[in-house]
Amino acid sequence: MQKHIPTKAKAPTKAGGCARALKGSLSGCDQTQPAVPQGTDRATWGTTSKNTPADNLSSPPLCNPNATPAPGKGERIGKPVPKAGRRIPHLVEDNLTPKGASPMGATPRKGSFNRVLVLNQDRTPAMPCTPARARRLLSAGKAAVLRFQPFMVILKHNTQGKQPLQLKTDPGAKTAGLALTLQTKTGGKVIWAAELAHRTDIKHALLQRKAQRRGRRQRKTRYRAARFQNRTRPKGWLAPSVKNRVLRGTTWTQRLIRWTPITHLVIEHVKFDTQLMANPEISGIEYQPGTLQGYEVRQYLLEKWDRRCAYCGRDNRPLTSDHIIPRSRNGSNRILNLTLACQPCNQDKGSRTAAEYGFPDLQPSTLGLQAAAITNTIRWQLVDALKTTKLPIEYGSGGRTKYNRTQQNYPKAHWIDAACAGPSGEAVQLNPHQQVLRISALPRNNRRMVRPDTFGFPKGQPKGPSNVKGFRTGDLVKAVVPTGTKRGSWYGRVAVRATGNFKVGQRDGIPVRYLAKLQHNDGYNYEPITSTFLPGLKARVASAIC
Ligand SMILES: [Zn+2]
Repeated sequence: MQKHIPTKAKAPTKAGGCARALKGSLSGCDQTQPAVPQGTDRATWGTTSKNTPADNLSSPPLCNPNATPAPGKGERIGKPVPKAGRRIPHLVEDNLTPKGASPMGATPRKGSFNRVLVLNQDRTPAMPCTPARARRLLSAGKAAVLRFQPFMVILKHNTQGKQPLQLKTDPGAKTAGLALTLQTKTGGKVIWAAELAHRTDIKHALLQRKAQRRGRRQRKTRYRAARFQNRTRPKGWLAPSVKNRVLRGTTWTQRLIRWTPITHLVIEHVKFDTQLMANPEISGIEYQPGTLQGYEVRQYLLEKWDRRCAYCGRDNRPLTSDHIIPRSRNGSNRILNLTLACQPCNQDKGSRTAAEYGFPDLQPSTLGLQAAAITNTIRWQLVDALKTTKLPIEYGSGGRTKYNRTQQNYPKAHWIDAACAGPSGEAVQLNPHQQVLRISALPRNNRRMVRPDTFGFPKGQPKGPSNVKGFRTGDLVKAVVPTGTKRGSWYGRVAVRATGNFKVGQRDGIPVRYLAKLQHNDGYNYEPITSTFLPGLKARVASAIC
C-alpha cells in the first residue's frame, strides 16, 4: 500500500512549475502538462505518490503555444520525456503572449482566452486577470494555483479594486451559456465565458434504477398487496431530469459569485409559444380549442388519414395507430406524431422513424417540443433561485437576445447569446474566436453492483471500492512515465482500476505510482472549445498548417 503525501511538502522549482502549467492550460493546447501547484495551502491539492520523481512534475512544457490545438485528451504529450528539472530560458512574458492586438481588441485574433479567476488571500473574490498577468504573479511567487479547471489562482495578499461585473446566463434545455462581462463606458466586455452542457441521461438512469429495484424486490421479498396511491408531490415539484437543470444553473451562479466579484445578474427569460411553433398562423380564439376538439383521437386519425394505411395505402383492413417517431426513440404522443398503419406495416417499421422507413413526407415538419417545454418549465424556478443571491437581476427576452446578436453581427453560440442577453446586451465587446470553457455535467457513479453477461447472470467480481490508492474515477490527474511502452506525459480524467493501473484520458494501463492528482472530481468535465464555425478561422488554421 502506498502512502500519499501532500505536494506542499515538496520543495523547489516553485513558480516555474505553476507558470508552465498555466502556460499550457491557457494556450489552449491539449498537450497541456499542468504541474502540481507548489506552495498551495490546500492539503487536498496534488496528492502524489511516493515513487514519483518530484522533478518530473515540473518538466518543461512540450507544447508550442502557437501550434494548432490537437483534439483529444490523454494523448501522449510529447516525447521523449525531457531531463528532469531543466530550465526553459525563454520563459519570459514576450515569448508567452503573442504580440499584436489585445485578445479582446477590435481585431479578433485566433485563440484569445478566458481571463483567469483570482481569489484574495482571505478567499474573497478579486477581479479576474489576464493570463499574462497571472503568469507574472505566479513567476514572482505572489500567487499560487488554486484550481486547474476553471483555472484559478489565489493571491498571497489582498486587493481592493472592484469594477462592475455582470454574470449573464442563457438557460437552455441542453446547453446553457454563461458570460462574465465587465461594464465599461462603451458597454460590456466579455472577459470569461463558458457553455454548460446538461445531463440528458437522467430519465434513462431513473428508469433503469426502477427496473433493477423491481426485479430485486420480486426476487427477494414476499408478496405485498398494492398500496393506495398515497404519495403526494410537494408544490413546485419538478421531474428530476428538469430539476437537474435548475440546480446546475444555480450551482454555477453561486460558484461564480464565490469566485468573482459579481455585482449584477442578467438572465434571458425565455418563453416559447408551443402552439405558435406548431402552427404559425394561429391567433385569438384558435388557441383554446386544440386540434382534437370534437374528435376522439382514433376518429381524428381515421378521418385525417382517409382510413388507409399511411405506408402501403391499403384500406378495408384492421388499422393500428402508429407513432411516426417511435416512442422508443423519444417520439411523443402528440397527435402530430400519430398516423395509421396496418398490422404488417407497423410490425415491419419496428423502431424506425417514418423517414428511415422510406416515408420522409410523413415526418412532422415541426421539431419536438421537449426542449421548449423544459425551458418554459424551468424559467421561473431559475429566477427564484437567482433571487436568493440578493443581487440585482436584469431580464431579457429571447427575441431581444437575437436582435442584439444580429445587430452586432455575432455568430450563434450559447455563450454569445448569454453575452447579448437583456438591455445590457445591446453593446457588447467580444471576440467570437475566444476559447471558452465547455463544462459538461457527468454522472458520478453507476448503480450496478456487478456486471451481467448476455444472459443476465453475474460476470466477474462484484464492484470494488470507488477509491483506489487515493484516486477516484473522474479526478483530474497528470502522469509522467519515464520508461516503457507508456513513456511520456499524460493528462486528463482518470478511471481507476482495482489493479492499480489506471486509465488517464484515453490511455489505459498507467501505473498509479506515476500519477499526481491535480483536482478532485467535482462532477463536471472541462475542456476548452474554440469557435470553429467561422470560415475565417478555418482559413487561418489551414494556412497555419500548410
Ligand atoms: Zn400497410
